[in-house]
Amino acid sequence: MTKPKYIFVTGGVTSSLGKGIISASLAKLLQSQGYNSAIQKLDPYINVDPGTLNPYEHGECYVTDDGAETDLDLGHYERFLGTNTSQKNNITTGRIYQNVINKERKGEFLGKTVQVVPHITNEIKENIRNLAEDKSLDIVITEIGGTVGDIESLPYIEAVRQIIYEEGSENAIVIHLTLIPYLRATGELKTKPTQHSVKTLMELGLKADILVCRSEKTVNLDLRKKIALFCNVKIDSVIESIDVDTIYDVPLKMMEEGLDTITIKKLGLKSKEPNLDKWKNFLHKLRNPKNEIKIGLIGKYIELKDSYKSILESLIHAGTENDVKVNVKSIHSEYINEENINDKLDGLNGLIVAPGFGQRGIDGKILTIEFARVNNIPFFGICLGMQMAVIEYAKNVKKINDANSTEISEKCKNPIIDLMTNQKEIINKGGTMRLGAWDCEIIKNTKSYSIYNKKLISERHRHRYEFNNYYNDKIFDENFVKAGINPNTDLVEIIENNSHPWFIGVQFHPEYKSSVSNPHPLFVDFVGASLKNFLKNN
Ligand code: GLN
Repeated sequence: MTKPKYIFVTGGVTSSLGKGIISASLAKLLQSQGYNSAIQKLDPYINVDPGTLNPYEHGECYVTDDGAETDLDLGHYERFLGTNTSQKNNITTGRIYQNVINKERKGEFLGKTVQVVPHITNEIKENIRNLAEDKSLDIVITEIGGTVGDIESLPYIEAVRQIIYEEGSENAIVIHLTLIPYLRATGELKTKPTQHSVKTLMELGLKADILVCRSEKTVNLDLRKKIALFCNVKIDSVIESIDVDTIYDVPLKMMEEGLDTITIKKLGLKSKEPNLDKWKNFLHKLRNPKNEIKIGLIGKYIELKDSYKSILESLIHAGTENDVKVNVKSIHSEYINEENINDKLDGLNGLIVAPGFGQRGIDGKILTIEFARVNNIPFFGICLGMQMAVIEYAKNVKKINDANSTEISEKCKNPIIDLMTNQKEIINKGGTMRLGAWDCEIIKNTKSYSIYNKKLISERHRHRYEFNNYYNDKIFDENFVKAGINPNTDLVEIIENNSHPWFIGVQFHPEYKSSVSNPHPLFVDFVGASLKNFLKNN
């Protein structure tokens, strides 16, 4: 195996500059030249993983095949690259400390005093190198979360410094993502914050090799020269990253700016002819839709778009596949009631009820599902959305009055959705749900079977509750059917309503597996059905 090369992506000036998108775009460009690269995100917070975080904190929690609850940037990596990530692609300070403390308890440090340097920094380095070794990678891109200068990220920066020292600067480089703010009052772009953040990096022993400058306006040659001189980089290493209308445009913009060329040169690799035909084709379709539809996304974390990131991206992929622009109207389920539901859901061509936890906003979700069922509007229920679709049918069609989920009403008489048996003993909250990829056997002659066109599928999960099979005969009938079950446990994975144009609920999260190269078939078909619904009425 050849020795891997390392690219470290740091951020300066502010957070939320899009390090994840830049990293994913660079990896895409490297992949298009035949380099086998992977991305890793190091998060400087103390939670062991983001699984216990409220979506308002960091947006969606992204789940991998191996059941890791991770940062949403991993979703971008998978969607851009079309390759799977795992627990190893997202490490937090909490996990690093947990590993080190576990080793200390086992006596692995042979009586030494355990310290941030070298023990924590060594653990960080080991986690960076592990990724490359396991997958025989050519290039590892490691994104350091947070902003340079934060107290929390100091051990990471030190670990990066040591890796560059050990590997040599021809094998390991730093790309620093920074902001060039535009001052409207004076009509100028300002470089000083960038100079300061590069200086902070230098004080910590790191030199930025490439600067990616986020900006609302064009960074002209004079400004680039100034940035290059004061930040100690060559002019061709000052890369502009101007705001674009879709994240899927960023790889091509970065290619125009030469980010891939300069990176490859600095790492002593050979430039090859990139193959981005499929990507360009996707962008072309994205830019030239034949129709426009409106989908309602009903959830309770809608104030923050990132809460449902993967669903929104899956709809973009599915829209492109159907030559249609999908406009998403996010609607807060807490504020939907019987009086306003007609207004709130007016003009929507399809409805998605989002995943979620707890009681808040449940009634609005059930009302929405009834509205979709009765009015023949394509309906897609994901995880909690599927569970509530079963409750809605139980209550309104089967007249089981006290039908509920024990998550919502612990003592309800008819627990149609109930805690999974193996969840009953669990006390710890972190990493203990039914997580990751599980098999699902699709039942023949169902819509799902025709959509997937195969019998055995694998999808990712994140839940504690399930359909209570005790109610099997009381709920399911010739219209409302089970369309997928876990072959080992009989857990209901997919439900469908056959007397409806498109009504599917899934216990899993299909949104985690949709990518640019492989849009998810359920989303594609749901958008197709919503388009049909739109065309019928217009
Ligand atoms: N709260 C539900 C459960 O734990 C659904 C979870 C989800 O929507 N991801 O089963």
